[in-house]
Amino acid sequence: MKDPDMMGFTTQAIHAGLEQTNYGEVSVPIYQTSTFSFINAQDGAEKFSGKKKGYIYTRMGNPTIEALEKCVATLEHGYAALGTSSGMSAVTTLYMTFLGAGMHLISTDAVYGPSRSVLERDFSRFGVEYSFVDTTKPEKIEQAIQDKTKMLYIETPANPTITLTDIEACAKIAHRHGIVLAVDNTFCSPYLQNPLELGADVVLHSLTKFINGHADIVGGIIVAKEKELFEEIRKVLFYMGGTMDPHQAWLVLRGVRTLPLRVDRAQENALRIAQFLLDHPKVDWVTYPGLDCHPQYELAKKQMKGSGSMISFGVKKGLEGGKTVMNNVQLVTLAVSLGGIESLIQHPASMTHAAMSRKEREKAHITDELIRLSVGCENVDDLIRDLDQALNKI
Ligand SMILES: *Cc1c(COP(=O)(O)O)cnc(C)c1O
Repeated sequence: MKDPDMMGFTTQAIHAGLEQTNYGEVSVPIYQTSTFSFINAQDGAEKFSGKKKGYIYTRMGNPTIEALEKCVATLEHGYAALGTSSGMSAVTTLYMTFLGAGMHLISTDAVYGPSRSVLERDFSRFGVEYSFVDTTKPEKIEQAIQDKTKMLYIETPANPTITLTDIEACAKIAHRHGIVLAVDNTFCSPYLQNPLELGADVVLHSLTKFINGHADIVGGIIVAKEKELFEEIRKVLFYMGGTMDPHQAWLVLRGVRTLPLRVDRAQENALRIAQFLLDHPKVDWVTYPGLDCHPQYELAKKQMKGSGSMISFGVKKGLEGGKTVMNNVQLVTLAVSLGGIESLIQHPASMTHAAMSRKEREKAHITDELIRLSVGCENVDDLIRDLDQALNKI
């Protein structure tokens, strides 16, 4: 009766993952238990060997976590998903699965900071090699491929530059060379972009952002396109232990039910705000995939089903101008993170990247005047009024 594959996205988001017990519950119960009892020794043996389906221990599977995994796997058109304790746990679980000593990874140069730092700081200690490449130009990926390259890891749109990478083009290159393509789809959510449909092998999300959407938990998820890859990743996650908690999974389930409604509203707001910023005398430039002045406007239309709600813009007077806006916003909240119902703003040069030298920052395309805005679901006129008064203080 309820085959989620036959339903539209909004229906899937609301229904996928719920398998009612005899009680007829409408919300997935929280199975707050670390372990599950066996009927007898034979039952235990069969569950451990995989002959019989059933739960053993929460690090290896739990009904609440599984409900969320089923829901997100449906939304991403994947074979199955694995919930993780954080987005970074999803990232490191994938690195662990596909890389080892003497193996090489190619990654987007503007990738999420910690996804890069953990390679440079930690995976390097185990002999993993990597190249950070401007993946907006697929020919640069091709040039960086070596015999030992095992994984192409891209993030699109990338943070905080809002530059795009062509997923289909990457899939062709990766598969021609027998390389796994993984996509960090956090900025789009499955509502706006489905990398597996565009040829990727694995997709991951920081659930902390759009999928949960309420700025109240940290979490991550990995979705694999095929059973074989899924099984490999699952083993690594079980042993490394970056598993979710049932209560955390339940909160994300509550959040994901309204994902399309929140994203629709936020991106409607974002387009209005992007246009407002474009016309503002204290703003020099605006990067938003929904504006036809975005250098990759056509690619955005091709691979994204909407423009999202992340905007970067540059203000007059560089570093000082950025600080002035930070110190004067009243409704828009000064905080990192993104994808929640509340609008968040941050100025990398004076905040998240203040410890880097200007030269290093500019190499990472983080210029002094760049402000990043995650547009939420508030009344757009209130947001515009707040941004306008803060900008006018410059
Ligand atoms: C936040 C984020 C992550 C890391 O997720 P956490 O939940 O903070 O561990 C990874 N990738 C992107 C694009 C992110 O925005």
